[in-house]
Amino acid sequence: MSTKYVYLFSEGNASMKNLLGGKGANLAEMTVMGMPVPEGFTVTTEACTRYYDDGKNIAPEVTEEVFANMKKLEEISGKKFGDPKNPLLVSVRSGSRASMPGMMDTILNLGLNDVVVEGFAQLTGNPRFAYDSYRRFIQMFSDVVMDVPKHSFERIIDKMKEAKGITLDSDLTADDIKEMVDKFKAHFKEQKGFDFPSEPKDQLIESITAVFRSWDNPRANSYRRMHDIPYSWGTAVNVQAMVFGNMGNDCGTGVAFSRNPSTGENKLYGEYLINAQGEDVVAGIRTPEPIDTLAQVMPEVYKQFAETAQKLEVHYKNMQDMEFTIERGKLYMLQTRNGKRTAAAALKIACEMVGEGLINKEEAVMMVDPKSLDALLHPQFEVKALNAANPIGAGLPASPGAACGRVIFTAEEAVEWHGRGETVILTRLETSPEDIDGMNVANGILTVRGGMTSHAAVVARGMGRCCVAGCGEISIDEKNKCFTLGGRTIKEGDYISLDGATGKIYAEAIPTVEASIGGDFDTLIGWADGMRDLAIRTNADTPRDSQKAIEFGAEGIGLCRTEHMFFEADRIRDMREMILSTTEEQRRAALNKLLPVQRSDFEGIYEAMNGLPVTIRYLDPPLHEFLPTNEEDIQNLATQMNIPVARIKEVITSLHEFNPMMGFRGCRLTVAYPEIAEMQTRAVIEAAINVQKRHPEWKMVPEIMIPLIGEAKELAFVKDIVVKTADEIIAASGVALEYQVGTMIEIPRACVTADEVAAHAQFFSFGTNDLTQMTFGFSRDDAGNFLNHYYEKKIYEFDPFARLDQIGVGKLVETAVKLGRSAKPEFKVGVCGEHGGDPSSIEFFHKAGLDYVSCSPFRVPIARLAAAQAALEFPRK
Ligand code: ADP
Ligand code: MG
Ligand code: MG
Repeated sequence: MSTKYVYLFSEGNASMKNLLGGKGANLAEMTVMGMPVPEGFTVTTEACTRYYDDGKNIAPEVTEEVFANMKKLEEISGKKFGDPKNPLLVSVRSGSRASMPGMMDTILNLGLNDVVVEGFAQLTGNPRFAYDSYRRFIQMFSDVVMDVPKHSFERIIDKMKEAKGITLDSDLTADDIKEMVDKFKAHFKEQKGFDFPSEPKDQLIESITAVFRSWDNPRANSYRRMHDIPYSWGTAVNVQAMVFGNMGNDCGTGVAFSRNPSTGENKLYGEYLINAQGEDVVAGIRTPEPIDTLAQVMPEVYKQFAETAQKLEVHYKNMQDMEFTIERGKLYMLQTRNGKRTAAAALKIACEMVGEGLINKEEAVMMVDPKSLDALLHPQFEVKALNAANPIGAGLPASPGAACGRVIFTAEEAVEWHGRGETVILTRLETSPEDIDGMNVANGILTVRGGMTSHAAVVARGMGRCCVAGCGEISIDEKNKCFTLGGRTIKEGDYISLDGATGKIYAEAIPTVEASIGGDFDTLIGWADGMRDLAIRTNADTPRDSQKAIEFGAEGIGLCRTEHMFFEADRIRDMREMILSTTEEQRRAALNKLLPVQRSDFEGIYEAMNGLPVTIRYLDPPLHEFLPTNEEDIQNLATQMNIPVARIKEVITSLHEFNPMMGFRGCRLTVAYPEIAEMQTRAVIEAAINVQKRHPEWKMVPEIMIPLIGEAKELAFVKDIVVKTADEIIAASGVALEYQVGTMIEIPRACVTADEVAAHAQFFSFGTNDLTQMTFGFSRDDAGNFLNHYYEKKIYEFDPFARLDQIGVGKLVETAVKLGRSAKPEFKVGVCGEHGGDPSSIEFFHKAGLDYVSCSPFRVPIARLAAAQAALEFPRK
């Protein structure tokens, strides 16, 4: 049987979303439910895919089916397409599987031309209305199909009104609008060099093609990338008989939600306009009326609509966003879909619907988008103030939240200004590990370079600090302490505001309000906790982060990076001394000075975690990251340490690497200098013993994680050092402390030899950041420079550092889990990369059988919810 490309609304239903798109499937469902929906049909997403497969051509079968269904529409409606005596007019509306609001525009009143409009005027007895419909059609068709912008027509309207001395559209007479139509057509011809298409059949096919084409426009492509919508889905097209809300005062059009989408309140919420068509409500030309008042204006229609809204909500078991039109006192439903809502509203609606008995707890958990929770955990701008402000530019929304403060250009000065009680925005070309203190005191971080996984972005997300990264349009003058953006020059100390959710930058102070989480949040996430298989841990390097993570419900630390501890001013010196040592003896002496600080850091973290498991990763970055880079700092260090400048420079040169990401780092440091692992083991174990003594009620089992293992023998070597050191300390302490030694799996070689590696490990934790860059062979810091070309050419559709590449990197993960567990069946496996907080990646980790995911504190609630959703959708046996 040949493929069916077109379905009448009466042939479809809500379960056919993949084929009919969201809008089409729901129009079909409402039709089948017997609701008043103007008749129509849907051209399927498969027709769209076919269009692209055929080199952007509409296949003759598709065209044929379209016209065959137009015939059916004519029969149902008793009107005829292109017939001046009784014309059938239609709308052409796009609709993909997932709603992509505003991405592809709708064309109304299709089927009009110079002849048909005359008949339409006579038939309706309303020439003004007929010509107004026609001029709207010309405008929309030109804009959407022919790339002649809408506003160029608006200018013609403005000029006409000016010439006639009127201000309101409604003061234009039928003859005025007739004249306007002529001007529109002339404008069209002038722009395109040919006449406005007058054959309705051509208009229809051109419009359908335009919808297909718009699936591939840059706006649609970037929206899809942001929302995990695959290109391959395609969009459907709906062709629907027109109903008219603009035929007089017994007509109107509106949009409404079955509950309040910003607060969640269980009350019909929406707006309408009398005597208006489609887009007028959202276009803001006239101020719409609140839906409540329709109860007085048209009581019968209001009652019918309110009942319909209620019925749809119960039917879909979700809050509905509906569009309707009233033609001569009769209600028509034009759309329904699950309504978008704020996170607060989502939680309230889900909890209340459970209370009302409309849905069960599982359905409530499935109903809330995990990513939306982010907004509840960070400070926000006051909505009114934000709406009134104008951005001067935008970068990447690297870490959410709203921040306002004075612009400061160095980390040291940020600390200084902060000390004086100022709020600051740290503004850097790019950040480096040395900036950590400055980032910590800043309200927000702004960088010129770097992507979503740049240092600034990763660290800021970890801290829950607002960050806008990679705003390449900024030209920064660090010497004179100012930058320019969007024609504005911002000097040190000037106030700016950053929106970490949108990436927008404002040259003014916008007031913020604190985050508030409470009742519904706890209720819903509490339900989710009972439904998931994955444990949720956190990536935390300080007692403060650990504390935050506990508040957000973390069940342990999956990644405690130890190097961050060495960047603080009083410690970096000892660290540098260690690096500059020429003998093992010197190195040990320097390490000895680091031991007590590291030990007390661990004690602080253990205490903050209340006895929950803590995984500590040993020193990972290349050593050169700890050395100063500019002349002045090198001079200071030389004086401080009483060694020649030349010696420092020598070490810097010797540590220089062509590719530090793949260089002398991770366990390789320990292979060369075992005393580093010795010191860290000492700190981990002694701290655990001290805390165990203070808290006999806890069972301390520190988990030591060796980074960057690629070979089993490498792990065996490092593990021996750890075990020898640990066992000695434990034996001497008289405390029967247990501990585990495991490894971070982040090198492809470790994945494919995971059975051998597992023989020496007590757990695996996937470091998916490194694993991704090693698998793809590009570094996350450089990928931003060329990934856009890959997105444009559809070679890659997503940033693999934000969303796990399930096909390639995922295969390595699955392989490693399988091999590891073939060696040790009960083997504990987790993940601690950035992906551990990404819902679609979490779903994958759930399916791959992992025990836990670990993510930054602010993503813990997101992960708790996402893990529950994964478990509900893909139950483990
Ligand atoms: P969007 O996805 O941007 O909301 P729609 O396809 O829903 O686009 O169309 C926008 C508006 O156009 C609708 O809300 C409705 O008011 C109007 N519209 C669409 N089709 C028709 C129709 N057949 N009759 C009357 N109005 C229509
Ligand atoms: Mg709509
Ligand atoms: Mg790593």
